[in-house]
Amino acid sequence: MENKRFCKRCLLQDIMPDEFIENMRIYLNGLDDEIKADENLYQERIRLCLDCDNLNEGICRLCGCFVEYRAAIKKRACPAIHSRW
Ligand code: SF4
Repeated sequence: MENKRFCKRCLLQDIMPDEFIENMRIYLNGLDDEIKADENLYQERIRLCLDCDNLNEGICRLCGCFVEYRAAIKKRACPAIHSRW
């Protein structure tokens, strides 16, 4: 945890303990392919979140979701009125 930092536009992977991140990866990797966003879509969504003022320590302030989880589900969308993804 010593190397972790806290900042507005961080993802969970930047601020949470390694054990949490490992559990998150196991969960996301275990999602059924039918519901999981493919890697390119996931990375594009995360890129857009990282450039958004609504991202706060891994959480979207509009919906309260952890963006890394929300972005991983294909049918989910950005909750902004002018959706970013
Ligand atoms: S408003 Fe959309 S782009 Fe911004 S953090 Fe939330 S999900 Fe990501």
